[in-house]
Amino acid sequence: MYAQVIVDIVHENVAHTFSYLVPEGMELSVGQRVEAPFGRMVKEGVIVGFSESCDVPPEKIRSIRAPLEDYAAILPQLLTLAQRMAENAHCPLAETLRLMLPAEMRGGRVQVKQQPVVRLAIPEAEVDGAIAAQGRSQKRRMLLNLLRDGEAHPVSDLKLLVRDPLEALHQLEEAGLVRLTQQEVLRRPGGDGPEEHVPDPPLTPYQQEVLDVVLPEMRRGQGRFLLHGVTGSGKTEVFIRLVREVLKSGKAAMILVPEIALTPQMVSWFRARFGAVAAVLHSRLSAGERFDEWRRIRRGEARVVIGARSAVFAPCENLGLIVVDEEHESTYLSDRHPRYDARDVAAWRCETEGATLLLASATPSILSFAKAQRGDYTLLEMPYRVGNRPMPEVTVVDMRQEIEAGNRSIFSGALLTKLRECMQKGEQAMLLMNRRGYNSFVSCRSCGLTMKCPNCDVALTYHMAGGDGRLHCHYCGHVADTPTTCPSCASRYIRFFGAGTQKVEEELHRLFPDVNIVRMDIDTTSGKEGHAKLLDEFRSGRARILVGTQMIAKGLDFPKVTLVGVVAADMTLNLPDYRSRERTFQLLTQVAGRAGRGVIPGEVVIQTYKPEDEIIVASAAQDYRAFFEMEFSRRRTALYPPFTIMARLLVESPAELSAQRAATALHARCQGLLESHPAWKRRTLMMLLDQPSVKVLRGKSRWHVMFKLLVHRETEEFVAALTDLAREPAEGAEVYFEYNPTTMM
Ligand code: ADP
Ligand code: ZN
Ligand code: ZN
Repeated sequence: MYAQVIVDIVHENVAHTFSYLVPEGMELSVGQRVEAPFGRMVKEGVIVGFSESCDVPPEKIRSIRAPLEDYAAILPQLLTLAQRMAENAHCPLAETLRLMLPAEMRGGRVQVKQQPVVRLAIPEAEVDGAIAAQGRSQKRRMLLNLLRDGEAHPVSDLKLLVRDPLEALHQLEEAGLVRLTQQEVLRRPGGDGPEEHVPDPPLTPYQQEVLDVVLPEMRRGQGRFLLHGVTGSGKTEVFIRLVREVLKSGKAAMILVPEIALTPQMVSWFRARFGAVAAVLHSRLSAGERFDEWRRIRRGEARVVIGARSAVFAPCENLGLIVVDEEHESTYLSDRHPRYDARDVAAWRCETEGATLLLASATPSILSFAKAQRGDYTLLEMPYRVGNRPMPEVTVVDMRQEIEAGNRSIFSGALLTKLRECMQKGEQAMLLMNRRGYNSFVSCRSCGLTMKCPNCDVALTYHMAGGDGRLHCHYCGHVADTPTTCPSCASRYIRFFGAGTQKVEEELHRLFPDVNIVRMDIDTTSGKEGHAKLLDEFRSGRARILVGTQMIAKGLDFPKVTLVGVVAADMTLNLPDYRSRERTFQLLTQVAGRAGRGVIPGEVVIQTYKPEDEIIVASAAQDYRAFFEMEFSRRRTALYPPFTIMARLLVESPAELSAQRAATALHARCQGLLESHPAWKRRTLMMLLDQPSVKVLRGKSRWHVMFKLLVHRETEEFVAALTDLAREPAEGAEVYFEYNPTTMM
């Protein structure tokens, strides 16, 4: 018998399977990991098939050394998934197989944790006699008594009851009365917590309606849904009821969330309702915890998986449901190679494993909503908040008038007044300041005009530090001079945006010296529990104002928040990205949704220099449909996805010159490709060699070749060629191919 093995080496020349002899008596199955000789080394590999014969001459064939586990680490359906992803991404199977395992399992970097346990070695009826025979040793008598139940007791537990029990235990073992062994323990992140028995709330009519549609489909193992439910409409309760049905039928369910750290409530709700049958998977777990949660899922002990993007590869054997919560979040796209969209993977798993897919959001992505309109998904709507709570009242403040009235501070009069009231009443406030505007755009503070590219309908980027001081378009290369007065109203208050969360925090400290303030952004939330600690400060009420970047806008539920302020809505609206309008609508709607979730109604203040902008208007009215219609038709006219494909070859290098050189060479290669393939050239609307607006990231200089391509079968061939190009080694630089990436910055 021969086994075909994918050796865990990612190299172009090793991108196929190798045959090995299965030693006599070794039981192996497809998907099982093995150790196998490879060259002069021993490597890990995954068995992808068996055969009776093989082409390798008998004197050359080598034998599998040993299985790494006694079960198949990769389920058959996940093996198929890995194969499909490898084909799509034009990458070796070894690379996509890695997605299916906790990283630490490779190379044996994580071990099964063992602990010493002790149990009785004699029948219970003989215990009394044995106790009597222990003479003067109080300790041995106590131990025998404790072990009377016949269960395995961890020695560490006994230590809490009996001082230094080891010697006594060894004596008892020698006498044949007890047996000491090692037992596997599972590391549980955060423990199971108290399994509260929260009674189910009666469902709202809209929740009921949604369940009435989804449940029958789910029982048939089918259905793809997009749930558009406004913030506070009670989507989580819907998920919980669906999951319970799945468990009843003996199947498993998966709940994907954008980022676990930002959705602690979702996790605790699920823990409270489902206890140990729920497993949590995310990147902040320790290696051991992640491995153990993974094994609990693999063995079917945990049948509810809650996790971020990569949890979509969890080894659930009998999948009944995948929920993708906040489906519009860009975190579902992985930015690392091999690139994947967790929503696509979820859809594929549901399709092939006979499960139901439910995407949910208060602000569905343009792509998903367009699919729902095409009929690819069944649209479900929950247009009202639970308990008839009103949607928050939104005030849009025109910052141009503030300038005119002589107020040049970060806060408008209206926001400041409401903040004061909120603090006086002992309530809580959240302030959003999107700092990602550091590579900034130029906008007029008197009339709200933003300098835009005449060709591309996106904001021009101001190149300051080390740049030429001019305005650049990052989609077509258009360059314009930076005006000193506004071309529209001649005001001198035309300048670039720069302030960040820290500035807002400082200003708040000055205005409210007695109030505790928490700031949440990339700088303050590093470390394993970074998010949780800050959020606890705020949840407990010790802090009364939460200042943060877009990370505070996501699914948090703080009932005491009555005021939400968006300090500069323009910051997101004018980012040099074709999705900035979609992002702004999502951000404003989501952040507004944080207000008034308790009994007291909430208020929202949006500060902007462009109050008449249709996106701001739609956000203030929380009118998703209006937003969708506008943005969808704009995408059609300006030729952006889903009507085209945006892609790029991104080059990164510690040396700026190497990055530029590699990118220039790639650009020339691409020009060559297009010259020799007229069909590809016809579908290429744009190809541009440029520096991204984020010129240096994590210490590496960046350059890119950007593409705008028509959606077409021939385009896919070109995309495949570009993928191959990115895989070729480049001197002193790394090259990545990105297809509709989350950002072009
Ligand atoms: P969403 O995710 O749609 O924004 P949540 O799931 O966070 O909304 O629900 C909002 C609030 O309403 C939560 O505090 C939740 O416990 C509560 N809730 C949900 N469904 C019900 C219900 N049927 N009856 C009473 N309260 C509910
Ligand atoms: Zn102006
Ligand atoms: Zn342009």
